[in-house]
Amino acid sequence: MSKIRIGIVGYGNIGRGVEQAIKRNEDMELAAVFTRRDPASVKVATEGAKVVHMDDMLSMKGDVDVMVLCGGSATDLPVMGPELAANFNTIDSFDTHAKIPEYFANVDKAAKEGNNISIISVGWDPGMFSLNRLYAESILVQGSTYTFWGKGVSQGHSDAIRRIPGVKNAIQYTVPVDEAVDQVRSGSEPKLTTRDKHTRECYVVAQEGANKAEIENAIKTMPNYFDEYNTTVHFISEEELKRDHSKMPHGGFVIRTGETGEEGNKHVIEYSLKLDSNPEFTASVLIAYARAAYRLNQKGENGARSVFDIAPALLSMKTPEQLRKEIL
Ligand code: NDP
Repeated sequence: MSKIRIGIVGYGNIGRGVEQAIKRNEDMELAAVFTRRDPASVKVATEGAKVVHMDDMLSMKGDVDVMVLCGGSATDLPVMGPELAANFNTIDSFDTHAKIPEYFANVDKAAKEGNNISIISVGWDPGMFSLNRLYAESILVQGSTYTFWGKGVSQGHSDAIRRIPGVKNAIQYTVPVDEAVDQVRSGSEPKLTTRDKHTRECYVVAQEGANKAEIENAIKTMPNYFDEYNTTVHFISEEELKRDHSKMPHGGFVIRTGETGEEGNKHVIEYSLKLDSNPEFTASVLIAYARAAYRLNQKGENGARSVFDIAPALLSMKTPEQLRKEIL
């Protein structure tokens, strides 16, 4: 059987994760890594793999079955998503929740014109968490859904701290509040504020001679990022940061509680993730959906899809017969 040929577009954390995920999925192979940088300057982990400049992408149109777009959601994907969907089947992890409807419409138009399939906003949130919110809401029609994130590194919040004068380096963890999670699990459907649900833990390397009290105050009062949370700030050395905080863990919970029947019997649905590596896990989800995109395109379908539109069996390497026998 011929393998599904994957193109990696953008070689950052997610791009490297996709490269690793391809190695663990025997029905796939890496066609090429595409980058906006000088290809000679990008050292990939797979020996002998092609590294191609993004400007030369169209020359490989017949050599790639699915492009996995690994650019950033803020500025890369809004442009790249529609552009690439016009020429290739695509998967991406676009995670700016408020802009998903607009992004979907732009990608859909381009994918239809190019007769390709594009599955957008794939990963864990949006992605696996979204699916679990949908399943839970559809089953427990009367109830409440809660999403908790962490403990995990937030790139956006870490970047925001690094921009404060006097800060050399920093990392920020989002941490769910245990009491809030317990309250939710009890089925009492509490009303929780932003401050009730999560705390923020910051590990900061200060520049020599910097005023630490000022840095701490600047972090804790930063609008939108920290002012609505209980935040703790720890000053550490560059060595400690490297030694103890260089991984990119994440995770969280989607919990829905609700009632059924005349007696109001209570139910709790919970989906939880504990990830050592956010990018490697996200990449593994992307690769499963790349398989689905390939299969849908083989059937002649086109246009944009979200995770809600993809039948679960399309994600699996196993045949529908195997799945019914082994795990149904
Ligand atoms: P990175 O910042 O690591 O990479 C983004 C892009 O930066 C790369 O594709 C790469 O493109 C470019 N880049 C430029 N210079 C460098 C360099 N020196 N080293 C590495 N990359 C470089 O972002 P992530 O991979 O961590 O995340 C990408 C997006 O994935 C995020 O914006 C986020 O929105 C999304 N995401 C979604 C999740 C979900 O659950 N849905 C979960 C996690 C992330 P090029 O090769 O062309 O230069």
